[in-house]
Amino acid sequence: MPAHSNLYPTKDLQARDAAHHIHPFTDTGALSREGSRIITHAEGVWLTDSDGNRYLDGMAGLWCSQVGHGRKEIVEAVHAQMSELDYYNTFFKTTHPPAIELAEKLAELTPPQFNRVFFVGSGSEANDTVFRMVRTYWDLMGEGERKVIIGRWNGYHGSTLAGTSLGGMKAMHSQGDLPVPGVHHIAQPYWFGEGGDMSPDEFGLWAARELERAIEEIGPEKVGAFIAEPVQGAGGVIIPPDTYWPEISRIVKKYNILLVADEVICGFGRLGTWFGSEYYGIEPDLMPIAKGLSSGYLPIGGVMVSDRVANAFIERGGEFFHGYTYSGHPACCAAAIANLEIMQREKLVERVASDIGPYLQAKWKALAEHPLVGEARMVGLVGALELVPAKGDRRKAFAPVGEVGTLCRDISFNNGLVMRAVRDSMIISPPLVLSHDEADILVERTQ
Ligand code: PLP
Repeated sequence: MPAHSNLYPTKDLQARDAAHHIHPFTDTGALSREGSRIITHAEGVWLTDSDGNRYLDGMAGLWCSQVGHGRKEIVEAVHAQMSELDYYNTFFKTTHPPAIELAEKLAELTPPQFNRVFFVGSGSEANDTVFRMVRTYWDLMGEGERKVIIGRWNGYHGSTLAGTSLGGMKAMHSQGDLPVPGVHHIAQPYWFGEGGDMSPDEFGLWAARELERAIEEIGPEKVGAFIAEPVQGAGGVIIPPDTYWPEISRIVKKYNILLVADEVICGFGRLGTWFGSEYYGIEPDLMPIAKGLSSGYLPIGGVMVSDRVANAFIERGGEFFHGYTYSGHPACCAAAIANLEIMQREKLVERVASDIGPYLQAKWKALAEHPLVGEARMVGLVGALELVPAKGDRRKAFAPVGEVGTLCRDISFNNGLVMRAVRDSMIISPPLVLSHDEADILVERTQ
């Protein structure tokens, strides 16, 4: 029997799943009626389900599988680490070699202002950490009034209460009393949907200046930080106009507030630079990371802490009352180190910048010719097709339900290709190891 053949038929697995498992971001009733899709194995950019169907993983899992699936080198590194030290924590002035090695490696790979990392288990925990770190920093600086963090509507920063609050997904605020106090949201730089009659550049400036308006309204002495994804991912791959980030940089410097670039999706080569901040030439003070850090082999994330913030902690701080049992888990660190070594050896970031990135972008952008496509956008290896009922019509096409979402039900496995649907956009974010032939297949199956 081949290693991956299924011991149980799909229907049986689905029944057991529906009986015992509440899934994240899932309509549990619909799942019970329709059954879940069961992925049984994966290799490279390909997934196989319990019926033996193969799909091109156009979403790199959940925007995380940079080096592709099934890399034995990572499996072996984790095995070796677990055989040597399965677990010990990094609390109370203890640590272990893989945490030391990974922290050092991240200091090398990230922009020069970052020399230290705080380890966490996920992107959500990273933003939870950001929330406390911003407040602690300003307390230490003697400006404890600066409690407000400004985020953006439709931004996504995770699913903990802090992440959900910093994020601007209204549906996630619906459970009551959210966002938590001290969080404020401004407009997103979504020209296609919200730019009205402005040109992209005019709109980029307008959206950035919303930050300045908000700071003035709240009171500059009360604002501690601005948080944003370099390119909004889960919000629909919103690529900001060129004028946006330079203006944001000017404003955060003018008011001396911390800039938090959430690199959970954009980090680790997604835009063709190691970090999205580098792509846009911005200099964040804090940088949440996760996903591509380990290519999803094991759960690990972190917050990169700039010297500005770290020095306040070192020179003025007492204990930082925050941490997770699995902060810097040895096996997860080993997975991340092996993953980063593969990325460096195979020059995957350079590949996105000058090979597979431009190759796929050209084909993707040509999809704009399709009568139902209003915009085909892509940067690095992350893209969206914005669907419209008629060419040249930028009004929200299929709102409010979102026809694409209905068709694809948030994620689509149609046509042997995995894509996401966000409102009226179809989204891709494939592994960085995608070959040219696989890029051709991806585009063919999108049409
Ligand atoms: N931040 C961003 C930008 C994300 O896209 C995500 C997840 O998609 C998160 C944070 C949360 O990460 P996690 O799901 O690992 O908690």
